[in-house]
This record gives sequence, C-alpha cells and structure tokens, in this order.
Amino acid sequence: MVSGGVCERCGSTNDVVSFNIGKEKHELCIDCRVKFLGRPSIGVTKKVSVTLSQDDWDWVDKQGSRSEAFRNLVRNARNHNNQS
Ligand SMILES: [Zn+2]
Repeated sequence: MVSGGVCERCGSTNDVVSFNIGKEKHELCIDCRVKFLGRPSIGVTKKVSVTLSQDDWDWVDKQGSRSEAFRNLVRNARNHNNQS
C-alpha cells in the first residue's frame, strides 16, 4: 500500500491509502475507508491526545498526515530497537 495521495471520494489528504479491490485501484482517506469498507484496512485506530511544542507540531504536520507521521515514528523506533 502507498500512502500520501488524495482521497478519490472527498479529496481529503487525511491518512489516504491506495489499495486494490479486485482489479480496481482505489485511494481513500481514513473517513471514507471506514464509511465504505466498514473499518480501516491498516489496523486498530485509537485516539490520542499529545502535547508537543509548536515547533514539533510544525514538523509533524510537514510529514503528510499526523497519523502517518505517528506510524512512521513507531516503525522507526521499533526498527531501531531491533538493531541494538
Ligand atoms: Zn475521503
């Protein structure tokens, strides 16, 4: 799956993921995935509140979506831990 696109249904860039249903390629944001597929395709969604400095938020918001930034951080941290 590739993320970072634009939702084909609502034009949102919020956590957009490309995937195939049969032979058709679809690009949907998190909201439309929930609406049209019944549930997110990438795992369990939990809401969190995070306090960061404005600088840190600026960085996070440059990463695409906040959820994508968070997933990348978790992935990187876990990969890093596996190496040591
Ligand atoms: Zn959408």
